[in-house]
Amino acid sequence: MKAVGKVKKWLRGRPPRGKWTLLRRSLQLFILIMFSIQLFTGGVLFNGSLASSRPIDIVLNQTIALPGMEVNEIYIPMLDPIAFLEMLAATHYATIESLTAVLVVVALYSVLGRFFCGWVCPMDLLFSIFEKKLNLPNQPRHSTFHTPTKAEKAVPIIALIAYVLLSWALGYPFYTTISPTSNASKLGSAVLGVIANVPGAAAGTALAYGAFVVFALIVNVVAEKVFGIKRAWCRFVCPIGALYGFVMNKYDPFKIKINDVSRCTKCRLCSMVCPMGIDVMGDYVLKNKDVTDYRCFRCGRCVEVCPTNVISLGFRLKRTK
Ligand code: SF4
Ligand code: SF4
Repeated sequence: MKAVGKVKKWLRGRPPRGKWTLLRRSLQLFILIMFSIQLFTGGVLFNGSLASSRPIDIVLNQTIALPGMEVNEIYIPMLDPIAFLEMLAATHYATIESLTAVLVVVALYSVLGRFFCGWVCPMDLLFSIFEKKLNLPNQPRHSTFHTPTKAEKAVPIIALIAYVLLSWALGYPFYTTISPTSNASKLGSAVLGVIANVPGAAAGTALAYGAFVVFALIVNVVAEKVFGIKRAWCRFVCPIGALYGFVMNKYDPFKIKINDVSRCTKCRLCSMVCPMGIDVMGDYVLKNKDVTDYRCFRCGRCVEVCPTNVISLGFRLKRTK
């Protein structure tokens, strides 16, 4: 049977290439490439990093006079909420532009939930590659899917508070500086700048960006190899996804939908393949409610393996339960 063959491949360490996996890998790569070539596109398409960016940045030939302001550049400002909180703590003020930029991002992920971690963040792509290269199991073992304890849920919240306090004490945005997500999106551009001898590009800067990315990779590999903890950085250290997960995953209309429970064969494949350790079958399918778990980053793996199409990924405005 086609579905069984796919799952066998998965269990051998080669995930099936369902449409959701292909789509999100394409989007992750596209965003990474756009940030990497920004030096050569003049930043018109993508400008900045995943912490603070301006997708579509067009400098106008002439200045347009609007009531109370003159406009000579059009762009979409985007600012990660963690970067905003840390900057607020470090500098004690916010500009209209930073407020607008963070509201754009909050509005986007109010619709898409924790989508950022599975579809945008380049670290998910890198973690997956390294998991395969190092021959780590790329699905949690049967015992690792579980309902999170209060302590487990508290760790990323405590980390977030600690980062904001550290930013306040140090006077610069602490996590944003060390974030592998932000550094990975700057790394390609820094390396290409050194190769192309672009003025201002320095090998030391590229090495520093790379060091933060490698550090997060090492943390994840050691946590999984030594302690059996899957994606430790994403679940316990990085506050970006935690914020989207705890706040947006409860209400966003883009979700993992549970459709017809009567078709469920209780094979539990959906829980076994979840990279974030969610017991999809036990906590959601059998309770006939859409997945609102803060850990779910809408990767669609559970959808791809379900042999009877009980689960789907898409929009549903109304909450099931
Ligand atoms: S519940 Fe499904 S979509 Fe959410 S993280 Fe797990 S496998 Fe991915
Ligand atoms: S929802 Fe699908 S994958 Fe999950 S236990 Fe039921 S039949 Fe199996």
